[in-house]
Amino acid sequence: MIPTVHITEVIKRYGRNTAVSGVCFALNAGEMVALIGHNGAGKTTLMKLMLGLLRPTDGSIEVLGENPAAGQFSARRHLGYLPENVSFDTALTARETQAFYARLKGEPVAKALELLDVVGLGAAAARRVGTYSKGMRQRLGLAQALIGRPRILLLDEPTTGLDPELRQTFYDVVQRLAAEGTTVLLSSHALTELEERAGRVIIMNRGFKVADGSIDKLRNLAQLPTKIRLKVSGLAPGELPHWLPSFAPCRRLNGHVVEIDAAPEQKIELLRHATAAGTALEDVDVIPPNLDELYAQFLRQAERMP
Ligand code: ATP
Repeated sequence: MIPTVHITEVIKRYGRNTAVSGVCFALNAGEMVALIGHNGAGKTTLMKLMLGLLRPTDGSIEVLGENPAAGQFSARRHLGYLPENVSFDTALTARETQAFYARLKGEPVAKALELLDVVGLGAAAARRVGTYSKGMRQRLGLAQALIGRPRILLLDEPTTGLDPELRQTFYDVVQRLAAEGTTVLLSSHALTELEERAGRVIIMNRGFKVADGSIDKLRNLAQLPTKIRLKVSGLAPGELPHWLPSFAPCRRLNGHVVEIDAAPEQKIELLRHATAAGTALEDVDVIPPNLDELYAQFLRQAERMP
C-alpha cells in the first residue's frame, strides 16, 4: 500500500470549539474511503486541513509527502476537491467555467472539457450555469474536481441533489479513478449507498475518530447480532419452530417467516439446527448489520466513554 495522506494527532480548534480532536489516519493510493459522522462532526474541517485551506492547531498532516499548511504546497495541483456547497459564476456557461478551472490548475482545457461529457453535461455545456438545476451544478462541481486526473479526490457530500441515475454514474466514475490509483475520500450522510461501495469507513463523532476499517472489520468490532430469517412450512398461526436451540429466541414475522437475532458466534450453530430440520425449512436469509446500524452502535459506544 502506498500512503498518500498521513494525519497524525491532528487538533483543530475554532476559538473554544474543538472541531477535530487528536485524529490519526493514513489514506492509501487506490482506496475509496467514506468519512461519515453527524452534522458538525469535523468532516469538512478534515478535508480543508488536507487541502491546506486551514492550519491545524496541533499535530501534523502530510499530503503526497508535503505539508499542506506550508507556503509552497505544490502537491495541491494533484488534489481534486468538490466542496459541500458548490457555487459558480452564474453568468458563465459550463464550458467557460470548466475552461477557467483548467487554466487555474495549469491543465489542458480540451481534456477538462471532455469531463463535461463524463458527468453527463455535454448537451448542456453551452448553457449559462445560472439556468442549471442543483443536480446539474453538482455534476459541474464533480467535473471541476476531476480536472487533471487528481491523485487525491476529496468529495464533500458529493451525491446530495443527484438523481439515482447520476448517483450510479458518479460512483462508476469515482470507482474507476480509485481502481487506477486515486485516493478517494468522500463524506456523506447517505450510508446505504456507501455500504457496498466504500472499501473503508471512517466514523467521526464530535471531532473524534471513533471507528476506522472495512465494513467487515466494523461488523467484527461492533459485535451486533445478525438477523436470520427462516421460512418454515407447516407452522400453525403464532406457532414457533420447536427445533430451534434455546439460545436463539425468535419472533414470528408475517406468513411462515421467523426471525432470530443471532450473536456472531451463534450464527453457524443456528444454521446447522435450521438445516437439520429437513423439509420444514424452505428458505434462509442471513442479514448482517448494515452501515446505519453499525454507525449508531459506534456512536452509542463513543457516548458511553468517559
Ligand atoms: P456537516 O455534516 O454538517 O457538513 P461536518 O462534519 O463537515 O458537518 P465541520 O464543518 O467540520 O463539520 O464542523 C466541525 C465543527 O467546527 C462544528 O462544530 C462547526 O460549527 C465548527 N466550525 C466549522 N467551521 C468553523 C468556523 N469557520 N468557525 C467556527 N467554527 C467552525
